[in-house]
Order: sequence, then structure tokens, then C-alpha cells
Amino acid sequence: MHELLSSTSADRYVEQMRVTVDRIAGRLRDTPQPFSGASRQQLQELVDAVDLDSAGLGTATALREADDLVGEHAVWFHHPAYAAHLNCPVAVPAVVAEAMIAAVNPSLDTYDQSTIGTLMERKLVDWTCGRIGFAAGDGVFTSGGTQSNLQALLLARDAAVARGGRPEGLVIVATASSHFSVQKAARLLGLGDDAVILVRTDAHGRMDPAALAGVLDTLTAIDRVPMCVVATAGTTDRGRLDPLAAIADECDRAGVWLHVDAAYGCGLLVSPTRRHLLDGIERARSVTVDFHKSFFQPVSSSALLVREPGDLRHVTWHADYLNPADAEEPNQVDKSMQTTRRFDALKLWTTLRALGPDGIGAMFDAVLDLAARVHDEVDRDPDLELVGRTELSTVLFRYQPPHVSDAQADGLVPLVRRVLFESGRAVVAKTVVAGRPCLKLTLLNPDTTLDDIRGVLELVRGAAAALVEGDDLVAAAEVGVR
Ligand SMILES: *Cc1c(COP(=O)(O)O)cnc(C)c1O
Repeated sequence: MHELLSSTSADRYVEQMRVTVDRIAGRLRDTPQPFSGASRQQLQELVDAVDLDSAGLGTATALREADDLVGEHAVWFHHPAYAAHLNCPVAVPAVVAEAMIAAVNPSLDTYDQSTIGTLMERKLVDWTCGRIGFAAGDGVFTSGGTQSNLQALLLARDAAVARGGRPEGLVIVATASSHFSVQKAARLLGLGDDAVILVRTDAHGRMDPAALAGVLDTLTAIDRVPMCVVATAGTTDRGRLDPLAAIADECDRAGVWLHVDAAYGCGLLVSPTRRHLLDGIERARSVTVDFHKSFFQPVSSSALLVREPGDLRHVTWHADYLNPADAEEPNQVDKSMQTTRRFDALKLWTTLRALGPDGIGAMFDAVLDLAARVHDEVDRDPDLELVGRTELSTVLFRYQPPHVSDAQADGLVPLVRRVLFESGRAVVAKTVVAGRPCLKLTLLNPDTTLDDIRGVLELVRGAAAALVEGDDLVAAAEVGVR
């Protein structure tokens, strides 16, 4: 039995889907904590025990084994004690659409491999452009914000070169709070690590428009060409938005491409209460959105949107066998860095149709409201120190009661994160803000309650207090800081 999906295997497909879906549903119902807490060594042994060269086990056994591995030891983002990174619980219509995508398996590179899928993706691109405020924009779905940012910077580079900019002199202007994919894109584009110039930020890590003006003037004076300013609408750590309109003013004045990285903040596009936070985004030349962050979509679902459709020509290449220059059909490959490409758009499509834009926006609003309440809670807590306020849904803090020194508090950050992770009872992140380590919660679950987060904070307090009591560990923590 070859087990390919076909007219003869349809019944077996139904059976295996059903069994697998039931197993996952059971885990969703019963999983008591976000992670099993298995050690890396235990997990390595489980993986090592699988002999990939052994004879086939059959579909049922293989899927059971996958569930024993992945279902048992996954990190469950729907669990209220998962509060680490920008991972969201996923919308049911999108998850079911994902199964459709896998089974139908269209490829969105050409019209003749996707037909209506191409038209649906284009309609969603137009819809997103409309929400941004691009009168006649265009764009394409991508694998994630990293790819969207890379494509934006590639388009900006080629536009600058087309205007006569020397490739060696090109500069990307960003801030220290910009996503690391900007730096990585500069390297991939062959621009060099020193091609990214960081503009001064305010106390919240937001780009200072006056400093930007100064940087743009200086660059011109020293004969370097600012090919793109990257503004972030929702910084990954602090959840802050750069002042988009003021930055757009400076970009217009200097004639520089403005890219807005809204990978995190894009959920505001559908927020019934906070859309104004994105005012000015319509003046960008390109925008990154990550539907798999604040639109509750399964990975992957992202898009790059451009204000001027012609800008996408820089990734167009024609091949006789695929998308000849005289093709009459709409071929999305003309706009994409990928060739074979998933129909991720179907997931957003079904979610929009099921919940409507306001329904998605209300879920994002719920996490933003929760974050505001958690900030107040942490701020009031004498054992915890709140590290700045967010406009979105991150919470940055340290365990630092009066008797704990700065060095101790800093040393506790990675240890507390690890103790929690190894217990599997809660998953939190850590980062560095203004030179000091801190713990980070990223809230993206509209069903999580303040009490759920109080429970996570209680685990943090308990772990930290135990570490402070164990002298060795505190000593270790202080060594770790040095
Ligand atoms: C997450 C994120 C990215 C990268 O997106 P991926 O989908 O992880 O590739 C880019 N920019 C910002 C601001 C982000 O938060």
C-alpha cells in the first residue's frame, strides 16, 4: 500500500485524520501545563530511539508514534501559562483550512496550479492594503516577517540602485529595537553588517524623528545613500510603535523608502478600539504583517504589502516553463521570492469569514486589555519591578524585592526562566532592556485571565525566592552576571 492521497485512499485518509484529530483534541482538553517538562536529554533519547531506516510501520503506527513524541512534548501555545514569545493560540477555521491546504495542496506560484486560490490570495492582499490605507497597493503572502522584511529591503535596494545609488554606499536606517531580521537581511543582501545605521531612541525604545532627520542629513553629506528607513509598529520586546507619521515626514523630505515592520502590531489593523495607533502606516512604501502573530493564524502566514504595485517588479523573472513574459494569466510568482508556495491565505480567508474583522480585532484588543491590567498588577507588587509600559501585549519585569541587589536580580532572570521551563508549568521569556536582563511575558491569548497570569507571577516569585535562599545558586547567579 503506497498511502498516497487519491481516489482509492480517501476512506483511509478520513480514518487517520479522525483518529489524529481526536488525539489532539484530547490533549487540548487535558494538557495540564504548557510543556511536559521533559529534559533535553530525555527528548534526545526519544528521538535517538527512532530508526529512520527501519521498515515502514504503516500510517496508523507512524501517526501514533508522532503523537507520542510531538503531542506529548510540544509547547502548547493555547495554555494560559504559556506567555513567552509571539505565538498565538490558533483560530479553529484556520486550523481546519490548514488541513484543506495540505490535502488539496495547491501551489500559488502560477494561476494554472491554483486557479481560484490565486484570486483569493489577491483579494486578501487588496483587503489588507485597504486596511493599511494603500489606495492601489499590491503584495504577496510570505513565510513570515523575516521573509517579508527581506523582500521589502530587497525592493528598496533595487529601487535605490535603479535611481543610481552605488550598491557599496547603501545604508538601511533602523533602531536598536528593530527586529534582528533587518540586520540579517542586510547581510543576505550583501550590504554588510555596517550597512545598518541605528537611530537614537527615546526612553521607550521608539525612534526619535529629530535624530532620524539628523542621520539622513549626515548620510547624504558623506555620500552614503539611505535606501530605506525601517520603522517598527510593535517592537518585539517592548511592544512599542515608532512614531510613524513623524518618521514618514522625514522620509518624504529626504526621498527615502519607508518600510513599516508591523509583524507584531498588524492586529491593530482590525482593532475596533486602537486602529489609530497605526496612523501614518499608509505613508509607508512597504509594510510587513504577520498574520501568524496577531491574527491568530497557524504558522506560516505573513505578507508583504507595497504602496506602489510597480515596486514588486524587482523580484520578477520570467521562465518559459512557468510564467512567460507574455502570460495572460495572473501569476503570483512574479511578485514573490518563492516559487512553489503554500496557500496560507486560505487560513486567513476562513477566519475572516468565520469571525469577521471585528471579531479578530476584538481578540487582539482582549490581550491588549489584559496586558494593561498585568502591568498595573506588576507595578503594585513590591517583589516585582516593572520595566517600562507597553502599547501592545508584552510585560517586562524583574523579581527584585528590596533586599535583592541589582546584580542578584539580573542573575535571577535566566535561572527563573529555566526553573519554570524545566518544570513545564509555565513558559516565560527573557531579554535585555537598557543593558539589564529582565523576564518577559508576551500575551497573545484572549482566553487568558488576570488570575492565570497571577498564577504565572506566583511561580516566578516562588522560584526566585527559592533561588535567593539557596546561597550557592545566588552565587552562581552573580557569577553569571559578571
Ligand atoms: C516576529 C517578528 C519578525 C519576524 O517574523 P517571523 O514571522 O518570525 O519571521 C519581524 N519583525 C518583528 C517586529 C517581529 O516581532
